[in-house]
Order: sequence, then structure tokens, then C-alpha cells
Amino acid sequence: MKRVFTGLWVCTYFLIISCSNPNKTEQFPDQEIKFFATEINHKEIPSGDKTIAFVGVSLINGIAESPVKNASVIVRNGLIDEIGETGAVEIPEDAEIVNGEGLTLMPGLIDAHFHYDYVKHFPTNFVRNGVTSVRDPGQWVEAYDFERQTGDPLPRLFLTGPHLDMPPPTWPNDCYAVRDKAEVREAMDYLIGHGSSAIKIYHRLSLGLIKEVCDIAHAHGLPVTAHLEITDARQAVLAGLDGIEHVTSVGTALVSRKRAEVFRQNMMANNDERKSGRLEMWKDIDVFGKEADSLIKFLIKHQTFFTPTLGPYEYRIEGEKKDSIALIAFQHMADFIGRCQKADVRIVVGSHGPWVPYAEKGWSYHHEMELLAKTGMDNMKIIKASTIENARFLKIENRLGSIEPGKQADLILIEGDPITDIKDMYNIKKVMLNGVWVD
Ligand SMILES: [Zn+2]
Repeated sequence: MKRVFTGLWVCTYFLIISCSNPNKTEQFPDQEIKFFATEINHKEIPSGDKTIAFVGVSLINGIAESPVKNASVIVRNGLIDEIGETGAVEIPEDAEIVNGEGLTLMPGLIDAHFHYDYVKHFPTNFVRNGVTSVRDPGQWVEAYDFERQTGDPLPRLFLTGPHLDMPPPTWPNDCYAVRDKAEVREAMDYLIGHGSSAIKIYHRLSLGLIKEVCDIAHAHGLPVTAHLEITDARQAVLAGLDGIEHVTSVGTALVSRKRAEVFRQNMMANNDERKSGRLEMWKDIDVFGKEADSLIKFLIKHQTFFTPTLGPYEYRIEGEKKDSIALIAFQHMADFIGRCQKADVRIVVGSHGPWVPYAEKGWSYHHEMELLAKTGMDNMKIIKASTIENARFLKIENRLGSIEPGKQADLILIEGDPITDIKDMYNIKKVMLNGVWVD
């Protein structure tokens, strides 16, 4: 039954993308209005027409609590067709066989916070390293034209278009600046009409405009996520936010009102104030105090997705780097995320793309997984946060994020066992997108 049901979703999805504006809310027959996001490059991603059998793998399907040892998975025509214990699944005669000895098979990684920023070939780096879907939270859609024209393999590109900010914006090149509700409506018309599969809000957008954005986005089935810093996270979630980007976004919700207000005014006067200002603030945050308890409860109650992106804030004292404020601030950020994950806040994984100081080029996603493990997060939980939970955040869980019959075959093969050691995530052996090997 389940298999028929999943298959139905996938068929419905293909029907929708083939015959209508991919990002419009669709009325599903006999069901509530349901939106599923579409990658901007879906027409450019080849679809498999072969049968491939993974035999004897350790299977992490994205849903189960523990891996299934010695499993077999059959992929047919780009979709996952059959799953079972090796021996119980019949291997089709025409199948390409992949010997799974010593290998872990899992869903392709999904990145909720990927910046391209014109670093050429970076998206190709990512897909080769196992990140099969990325969401870029703040870049004009046309920024990807060059990469899309190279013909090189790319991950599925879920784009928000430029983020929404108020003047003077922090990043004028990546931003749509709005000043009132009428300008918000105009910007939203543009974004919805140009392939945005989510909306991203930035620092300065006022609470009233955040609500306006969320109302319009939700009427079109689009999720909204934000980099806050100067707006109280609770108030922004009450205004309608579905997700929060960056651990630093919740700083002002964890200090006294006076401290938050001073930081806010400093930043309103000068965007650059955030750089040292937030570190000063995080140095003093009591992550085990009452404010932290209450915020954690609030985020759980509202089921808010939270992308910590610890990577860009990581700091180590070494060589010339001797900033003890940055060191303590980062420790507090990591401790707070440790508490959030333990309490089951909906933590998801975002890499921040190329801008991560201690990650090797192309490996910032895997580095983020390591940092989450250092907060005490269980490896299976990290893998779910990087697959099925991110699929839910991106609204693509109908077809991606887990290994289940009927879903699209975005798969990665890993040498070793990332449940025992998260560092094994670096041992990417093979990547498959839509049932086709990524070269
Ligand atoms: Zn970012």
C-alpha cells in the first residue's frame, strides 16, 4: 500500500512539473492544497533508464533508527524500485550490479544553506562529494546561468532568489530591498514568478513586513526562512517564519531586553557592527539559563526548522589567531546547539558553501556534520537532519530525502560506517542522481 502511495506522489509530481508552472500551488485531487518545491534545473538533470542493483550494502534509509545490514536495493528508470534483505530481493538479469561489501548506501545529502557566490564549479564539487540537492538562500536565479550552461553535473538547485532586506542592505548584490508592504508585494510577485522555491528574509526586515512576507508566501505554499540577528526569534516565528538560519539569529532572544536593544540599534546604525557585536553578545550568553530553556521549548512547540551553520563561526586559537572572545562565543554557540539537538529541536544541516574557515574546499557540508557531532548529536540523527529532515524543510519529502520505493534515486555510497564514525562521510565512493552515476 505504502509503495503504491509513494509512487502516486512521484507520478503526481512529474505530472505537475511537466504541465504547469512548477512553483505554483497545486490543487491535489481530494486533498488539501499541497506545495512541493521544484529545482530550477530539473529539466537539465538526466534521468536514468537502467536497472541498478546494490547488493549486500549497509543501508541507512533516512527513516529507520538503525542501519539494515546486508540489504539490497534495486533502482529502475531513475526511481527506487525495491528494497529488502539480500537473498530476499530478486536481482533482475539485466541489472548493473554494485557489490556493497564494506559500503554504506544512504540518501543523497541535502544542503539547506548553500552559497554559490560565483565560486566557479563549486556546485559541481558539492554534488561529486555527495550533496545532491542544495538550497541557496539569497542569490539571484540568473547567478547560476554559467554553471547550468557548463554541462557539468550539478546538484538539484532550489533557489530563493535574492533575500528580502530593508535599506541599507548588508549585501546589496544579493538582496531585494523593500520599504513597505506595497514593495513587499511587488518583490514577492517577482520572486514567485521567477522560480523561488522558498523565501529568505534578512536582518533588517521589520516584524510587520516579515508577517506580510509570510502571509503571501504561505498563500502560495512557499516556506519562509530568515537570517535574523536584530529581530527577536520568537516574534519572527510568531509572524510566520518556518525556519531560522544561523545560530547567531537567536542571540538577541537569549540576552536581556536592554542588551538586545543596544545591539539592535548599533546594527541599525551600521551593518558591520554585527561582526564584533554578536561575538561580544554570545560570549556572555548563558546557554544553560532560563532564556535558553524557554527558547528551546518555544522552537519545539512551533516545530521551527533551525539551520545552525556552525562552520562559519568556528574559531581556533592558533598561530596569529588569539581572539579569546571569538573562541568563547563559538563554544557557547556549539553548547546551545548541543542543547537544542538533545531536546529535539528540528536541527537541519546547512554548509554555508565556500565560506567556512576550517573546511577543505568542497567539504564544508561534511565539516558541518562533524561540528554537529562535536555538540553531542548522535550520528544517525545528523544523517536524518541532512536527508529526510532537510527534505521536509525544503518541501521535497514526497520524492527525496529517504530510500523508499517510488522515490527518486539520489543516492550515495560511502566506504565505511558513518554511524560509528561521522568522519566516514568524507569517504564518498559513488554518487547517483536520478538513477544516473555522477562522473
Ligand atoms: Zn548565509
